[in-house]
Amino acid sequence: MALQRLNFHITDRCQLNCDHCLRDPLSKAIDLDLGLIKSILDQGQSMFAVRHVGLTGGEPTLHPKFYEIIDAIVDRDITWHMVSNGERFDRVLQRLAERPQRLENLAMFNFSLDGATEETHDSIREKGSFRSVMQAASLCRARGLKFLFQITLNARNVDEIEEIALLASQLGAVKMAYNFTQPTGTFLDSSLYLPAGEWRRAVDRIQRAADAFKIEIFYADTGPHEEPFQVCEMWRHASMHVDYRGRLNLCCQHAGVPSEGAELSDVAGDLNDVSLADAHGRFTEIVNHTVKARLETLQRDDLGEWDRHFSCNWCLKQFGRPHWVEDGIDGPKASRARWRGRWAPGYKDSHVEADPGLVQLRVGRTASAE
Ligand code: SF4
Ligand code: SF4
Repeated sequence: MALQRLNFHITDRCQLNCDHCLRDPLSKAIDLDLGLIKSILDQGQSMFAVRHVGLTGGEPTLHPKFYEIIDAIVDRDITWHMVSNGERFDRVLQRLAERPQRLENLAMFNFSLDGATEETHDSIREKGSFRSVMQAASLCRARGLKFLFQITLNARNVDEIEEIALLASQLGAVKMAYNFTQPTGTFLDSSLYLPAGEWRRAVDRIQRAADAFKIEIFYADTGPHEEPFQVCEMWRHASMHVDYRGRLNLCCQHAGVPSEGAELSDVAGDLNDVSLADAHGRFTEIVNHTVKARLETLQRDDLGEWDRHFSCNWCLKQFGRPHWVEDGIDGPKASRARWRGRWAPGYKDSHVEADPGLVQLRVGRTASAE
């Protein structure tokens, strides 16, 4: 299978502070260098005939050279999509429309939606973010631009599977994508944790929603699965991921997530120093090593429910990252106190609900007077 897609994690900046966010940003924002992006695009086209690019973050539109990145993509006649939280999308759309080819080459906007109601979505993300994403969807619909919604299911929104599909249909989304939350390594995981046995019930409901609704509903191959051996895009070499420092690594679920104690690094190469071809060679070795380890582990047949049926969970564990276990979470703990949300770092209402001991430190955007 040929490499179909390059994914760029272009910045760790974000206006939000979602409870399920895996990113662990530093106190100073890091943005992927525009010159390096252009070089990687050229190498990707010449070596692999790359025709599509995915942009993620953080919030990609906050990269200081976001529109120049889009121009670099469309100048090479490559199509693109991006994952966005929908904040200030009216302004983003206005700027994108300044050059028609930017939107002509757009394949899709992927908006993150984490609940069918303002209450659920905002409690996981931030106050006001549900309205932002609804407005972004309406703007796309009015302009005939394709968009989908993607949700990460967890204990706080898993009961809204059907309502979310209905909402997506009503808003004119082209697709609805469901995935499962990975552990963050923070104290918030206790409120997000789904018991291992719950995934089958959720997947069954997603399949029934797919049969009932006209909108295309799909379930990401990064979620739990019935077949113990499942091969993701990265293991198929269909997609590669570059992080905000310019390193080719195994996938977006590893990038920027705390790690400790692993023998093998998921970083295939720093593209500031090595060519995409050389990094791809190492990427191949990492994938082969991981797939072999997966097969050996399955052969031993001593895995718990999560590891047997959730390859990503098992994969994160191999690289020393937070992962689900049968009764909660294991792996390194992360502290996200350095988050630079729009309203300065601090604790949200959901943080304080999860750990009342945090109340004295509460200074964030949703804080009420103490
Ligand atoms: S929108 Fe939320 S999940 Fe996405 S990068 Fe920002 S804080 Fe993280
Ligand atoms: S975490 Fe591992 S198994 Fe999951 S998508 Fe990434 S590389 Fe594939």
